[in-house]
Amino acid sequence: ETWVYAFGGGTADGDASMKNLLGGKGANLAEMAKLGLPVPPGFTISTAVCTAYYELEREYPATLAPQVDQALADLEKKSGKGFGDPENPLLVSVRSGARASMPGMMDTVLNLGLNEAAAAGLAKKAGERFAYDSYRRFIQMYSNVVLGISHDEFEHLLDEYKDRQGIDLDTDMSADDWKKIIVLYKEAVEKELGKPFPEDPKEQLWGAISAVFGSWMNDRAITYRKLNDIPAEWGTAVNVQAMVFGNLGETSATGVAFTRDPSNGDPIFYGEYLINAQGEDVVAGIRTPAPISRERADTLGSEDAPLEEAMPEVYAQLRDVANTLERHYKDMQDLEFTVEDGHLYMLQTRSGKRTAAAALKIAVDMAREGLITENEAVLRLMPAQLDQLLHPTISEDAARDVLVVGLPASPGAAVGKVVFDSDEAFQWAEKGEDVILVRIETSPEDIKGMHAARGIVTARGGMTSHAAVVARGMGRPCVCGAGGLQVDGKAGVFRVMGREVKKGDVITVDGATGQVMLGAVDMVQPDLSGDFGTLMAWADAARRLKVRANAETPLDTQTAVEFGAEGIGLCRTEHMFFDEERIPEVRAMILSNDVAGRRASLDKLLPMQRGDFEEIFRILEDRPATIRLLDPPLHEFLPHTDEDMEDVAKASGVSVEELKRRASDLHESNPMLGHRGCRLGITYPEIYEMQARAIFEAAVNIANETGRKPVPEVMIPLVATHRELQILKDVVDTQAKAVFAETGVTLDYLVGTMIELPRAALRAGDIAQSAAFFSFGTNDLTQTTLGISRDDAGRFLKVYEDKGIYEKDPFVTLDQEGVGELVKTAAERGRNTRPGIKLGICGEHGGDPASVAFCHRTGLDYVSCSPYRVPIARLAAAHAAL
Ligand code: ADP
Ligand code: MG
Ligand code: MG
Repeated sequence: ETWVYAFGGGTADGDASMKNLLGGKGANLAEMAKLGLPVPPGFTISTAVCTAYYELEREYPATLAPQVDQALADLEKKSGKGFGDPENPLLVSVRSGARASMPGMMDTVLNLGLNEAAAAGLAKKAGERFAYDSYRRFIQMYSNVVLGISHDEFEHLLDEYKDRQGIDLDTDMSADDWKKIIVLYKEAVEKELGKPFPEDPKEQLWGAISAVFGSWMNDRAITYRKLNDIPAEWGTAVNVQAMVFGNLGETSATGVAFTRDPSNGDPIFYGEYLINAQGEDVVAGIRTPAPISRERADTLGSEDAPLEEAMPEVYAQLRDVANTLERHYKDMQDLEFTVEDGHLYMLQTRSGKRTAAAALKIAVDMAREGLITENEAVLRLMPAQLDQLLHPTISEDAARDVLVVGLPASPGAAVGKVVFDSDEAFQWAEKGEDVILVRIETSPEDIKGMHAARGIVTARGGMTSHAAVVARGMGRPCVCGAGGLQVDGKAGVFRVMGREVKKGDVITVDGATGQVMLGAVDMVQPDLSGDFGTLMAWADAARRLKVRANAETPLDTQTAVEFGAEGIGLCRTEHMFFDEERIPEVRAMILSNDVAGRRASLDKLLPMQRGDFEEIFRILEDRPATIRLLDPPLHEFLPHTDEDMEDVAKASGVSVEELKRRASDLHESNPMLGHRGCRLGITYPEIYEMQARAIFEAAVNIANETGRKPVPEVMIPLVATHRELQILKDVVDTQAKAVFAETGVTLDYLVGTMIELPRAALRAGDIAQSAAFFSFGTNDLTQTTLGISRDDAGRFLKVYEDKGIYEKDPFVTLDQEGVGELVKTAAERGRNTRPGIKLGICGEHGGDPASVAFCHRTGLDYVSCSPYRVPIARLAAAHAAL
């Protein structure tokens, strides 16, 4: 078996396609060598060795050592130097390199192969000071990385020495000073380890190789892999490469470059370099590096000479290499290079990390340049990344006075005045104030205040708390669970870390980082036209799944349409009942003891509800709207606090006692499984009658007004049996017939149901007899299938995720094995009964890229998600199709 792959001198055993075996770094070094680029020669020990090493309980396969010896001999030949040769020593770097770049892995060891004799040889060839400076760097690095001795120990010895000698800067150290330091370093190592620093280059080499493979299983690497779904079986590779020296004097340098600007995607040559420096000096921050290009130096206002002027020939060559690599890989590259005495060497290339804004610009530019296709451009932008582009963000260089950091629950940034009460938030917003709602936690009664607020902060609750879910749905920036935040709404203050913020004070919320800041911090607005519009049009051309939005207000509907929604997939009519003007009438209806009383209240609600639908149909034009009839338990509409009880009693003319009695009548120990959904329609058909009538009257009115054809799709929630749907479909059809007869206008409409109970999914075959469409309500379907209440899941779900019981929060990413199986079954059975049945999904999952991909594979017709996630779903649907 081949364990070792050589590269350099215009050829290589491997290439870029072999990332799995050679790791990213090794595969790209091989590719660059094959392209004829100047790569110092070396060899890669494959990831298969890493796997074998752990299978053999930290032993190497017997055939490895001879292959390494052979590769080393070849490397000596290629470089014209000898490993451990005191006259002309070959020095190497030992570099780790997994498939995906991975922090937590062993750091690179440079200058390996030096010992007393080799250092003396190097001194003769390249100068004493350089040789002994390199040697002491090597001892320090190797001891730290391979032998596990702290960096500080060496720094401490060096500082002491400099103090004693009255030396200020490292550059003032002479060769003799370094020689003395080397003695001190070696003593320190021997004292610490009880044995001397290894003199034998082979021993050094195997020490470093084992350190790389060993670091694959260190805690940092394991944690990183877990967080990023990287399997342990992948293993890392080890690269052994001839050293080139950027620290040979003023004609040498080292640097990093990006072929385009990774922060905004501009096609300028970006990067920095240091003259007379080695390896990590550029990022270590000891000296400030200079920009590479004149253009970049000008944008930065840098005084230092860019590489373009300091070494014009090297710059021109580097530019060429950069262009070659970018065209070859068809992606923005992140390069590492070193200049040794005027000669350029390439040490690494990889696809560069970039911000969402840069990813967008680079993808669109490259497609326009003809480097990639439009479909490839679509695949270059990750749907989850889009989120960053859809909301205002805090400008990068803004000063931040951070009060507290909580969970980044809903992205975007907002500035506003602190308000502690939802009604107050609404009133202030009506007057044109920007407000931030600060609460201990939120409940359904806060919806209106949350909607009115620019941003939301809670002291309690996790990423799936009410505040987080609702804020994401509304596209409001939100920081949740800001521990240490003491909210005293009555007194109108919150306190944190000994500071006090009063009602009306201005704060800034950054939902991307979880920061809550004092004062107004500068923000950048998103741009939805330009490159964004272009890329989304390409995505639309590629996808099959349609994308709708969950929306119930005109504003949300408008936003949804602007974000490209092709209709409404879920209009939750109950949200319309929480309105301040209506809730008294809703409560009066709930409090009446008989049908006649309820009808009287419903008659007053009818025109209001009709008005809601008219506005929505007007905005939607010919796009369909799935409207769900009343779903939540009536109890949710009643007041909860004594204070509110009194207010409501006064307003509605019932006594507080009566109100309390009715509230306790309606109380359920398990409201989620209680008197809600179609069960309300079955017991109080007059409610659904009113809603259906409002829908059809609105549709007819808008048809008359605009000449368009509104498309109402009436949806019955929480159906478990076909009989329920039959009864309620009848209620809806009767209203439609009546309205059409009264107005003389007939419109197409559909009646369908949500599939959100396991029984409904299993009996989808007979339910489809009466349903023109199914909309999978995956929030409830997840709750009822898993038997987990979303509102209470926070207490244990985190532990479940940590233990891998559920890989992902099932309320965020659809549980494809369980809930998904029900969705598949229902889709199949529904289609068997009614071949053309329209199938969609609504709920949080509709905007989750992995869940969207599942819906595509399952053959659903559309997904529906919150307006702000519509572009994410469009892009995810395109990814699924490509
Ligand atoms: P990382 O994965 O952390 O970027 P690298 O293996 O790329 O680590 O090494 C870090 C730096 O060490 C490189 O950017 C380069 O400056 C220096 N380096 C690595 N190998 C060599 C070499 N053969 N000659 C000169 N410098 C090297
Ligand atoms: Mg590197
Ligand atoms: Mg539901």
